[in-house]
Amino acid sequence: MLTREKLNAQSLALETAPLEDILIWSWETLGSRVAFGTAFGASGMVLLDVMQKVAPQIPVFTIDTGFLFPETLSLIDRVEARYGIEIERVYSRLSVEEQARDYGDELYKRDADRCCWLRKVEPLQRKLSQLNGWINSRRRDQGDTRSQISILEYYETDGRALLKLNPMAPWTRKQVWDYIVEHDVPYNPLMDQGFATVGCWPCTKAVDADADERAGRWAGSDKTECGIHTFLQPIDAAVNTVPVES
Ligand code: SF4
Repeated sequence: MLTREKLNAQSLALETAPLEDILIWSWETLGSRVAFGTAFGASGMVLLDVMQKVAPQIPVFTIDTGFLFPETLSLIDRVEARYGIEIERVYSRLSVEEQARDYGDELYKRDADRCCWLRKVEPLQRKLSQLNGWINSRRRDQGDTRSQISILEYYETDGRALLKLNPMAPWTRKQVWDYIVEHDVPYNPLMDQGFATVGCWPCTKAVDADADERAGRWAGSDKTECGIHTFLQPIDAAVNTVPVES
């Protein structure tokens, strides 16, 4: 078991650790109870490339909302072929057609929060119920809502602890793209057409090159996050151990 005390010490140590070491620590500490969730953005592709070199055992999953661009679906296939891995697709309980039947067409235009909950948050919650560690690729330079993230965060879900790992937190957009070019890492071709990030096609637009990286998501509304990074509760002090599998 990891105690709260050990987690605090580890969190400090990981803040200055290289990406490779963070991934190795994740696997050695959590084993098959950790997984990398990605939408295959630029940061995610760098993390995935490094992961395949130092900790290829870590499983990879993606939330397939049913509204992904064809270019994203094609990228997922290319990633599987290049690295020889199988990426788990996690789906909403409702197909796109069933959602239209139950909530009406184009829910994303009328109630984006509900659509995101049905197609992203609930499926992720289901996936996280199998895990003690969730690796993702958020960076601090991706905007105000992400500027304070730590490498290692701990949250509570379903009354138990969940480690959330943000190994890309200190990376900059330039570092990410330098790595992609230098290592010939595959990326979403929509990024050559002005898409700084790529989510669902109804809610993602191309942006100016100097715009905030997430400006193209839910453009014209106050919404800045889909909810997958905001539903977890900071851990209760009473939860002082985390079950781990070695
Ligand atoms: S990003 Fe848009 S289409 Fe995708 S789940 Fe959220 S509201 Fe629905």
